Amino acid sequence: MTPLEIQHIRTDFPILTEKIYNKPLIYFDNAATTQKPKAVLDRIMYGYEHLNANIHRGVHFLSQKATEAHEEARKFVASYINAASSDEIIFTRGTTEAINLVAFSYGEYACSEGDEIVISVMEHHSNIVPWQMLCERKGMKLRIIPINEKGELNPDVFRSLINTRTKLVAITHVSNVLGTINPVKEIIKAAHAGNVPILIDGAQAIPHINVDMQDLDADFYVFSGHKVYAPTGIGVLYGKREWLEKIPPYQGGGEMIQTVTFEKTTYNELPFKFEAGTPDYIGSTALAEALKYLEKIGIERIAAYEKELTEYATNRLMEIDGMKIFGTSEHKSAVISFLVGNIHPYDIGMLLDKLGIAVRTGHHCAQPLIDSLGIPGTVRASFAFYNTKEEVDTFIEALKRVVGMLG
Ligand code: PMP
Repeated sequence: MTPLEIQHIRTDFPILTEKIYNKPLIYFDNAATTQKPKAVLDRIMYGYEHLNANIHRGVHFLSQKATEAHEEARKFVASYINAASSDEIIFTRGTTEAINLVAFSYGEYACSEGDEIVISVMEHHSNIVPWQMLCERKGMKLRIIPINEKGELNPDVFRSLINTRTKLVAITHVSNVLGTINPVKEIIKAAHAGNVPILIDGAQAIPHINVDMQDLDADFYVFSGHKVYAPTGIGVLYGKREWLEKIPPYQGGGEMIQTVTFEKTTYNELPFKFEAGTPDYIGSTALAEALKYLEKIGIERIAAYEKELTEYATNRLMEIDGMKIFGTSEHKSAVISFLVGNIHPYDIGMLLDKLGIAVRTGHHCAQPLIDSLGIPGTVRASFAFYNTKEEVDTFIEALKRVVGMLG
């Protein structure tokens, strides 16, 4: 994408003209959450102004229109990730809720004492803790895939961890700390070769790369709307029909039932069986709008531009004495985690903030990974396609100043 195109794209995002401490905002915390284009903000307003009624139950016009919009959004999400059917798209509150759903429902269906779940050392807490809770409930064990010095998973160790007790593998597609894009297709194949289903945490993948459910062949794939330019509070669990039909519901309530008597309740068909309560029909339509916006620009072009920007930023960061970057795989997304000498990441983050630059500091909800690296945390700059080389230059100059003050 050309600088002119990026300038044009930036006008779609109202927040990018904000001033922070009287300085232009430089938003490099996109791995935590992304900013929203006007099309998405407009869709939220349109929903409440013209299409607001509770869905699925109403015979009246507005309820039917709102239901249609919600179900159209589900179809769009399904087609965007090339799921075989929109029945395989369950709307959740986000990645975290989707993983908890699988940990509970699949856990109830398939797991018992002595069984094992395989995850990796680079997982976000939301792809660790639900499995730990399952292990505690059932008397099971977590097995952990290590990483090499570049921050990549070792596929051979992974294969050696799979055995007859393994009930599920749960791996992130892209690390939110190291930026590593894991070879998930190969990992999915290896899990299936051992007859083990696999969940992929796509929270950091969906905003940056093309994902195709039928090509990947994962059993479960999860992501959050807010990391892909949609609002908070909406997310997706993709599940293969064969699993979603077998595993029990996660929460009980309205919408997820067919009939209720005090003696027995029967459950609704897919996807509603997993969507208890009033769904976020405004969020679902806004999520579809965000994905349409990405589709219009083209995810391949976005990926190419973000790669260029990340490489540019990496090279410029290396100008700074004492710079250490964590995560140096050739297969990397738009995330750079670093430390400079012995300076505490929090101090860097605080001073950059005063210059209008938003970066993340700390353990990034991946404490076991940070512990395994033997560091207190990192500073993390994470990019989106609306970020520019000029912003990177300003960031580098600011960082040099900050390091000069603290170093
Ligand atoms: N997994 C990864 C890799 C993430 O980066 C995040 C968010 N930082 C999550 C899961 C959790 O997402 P959410 O808080 O939206 O549920």
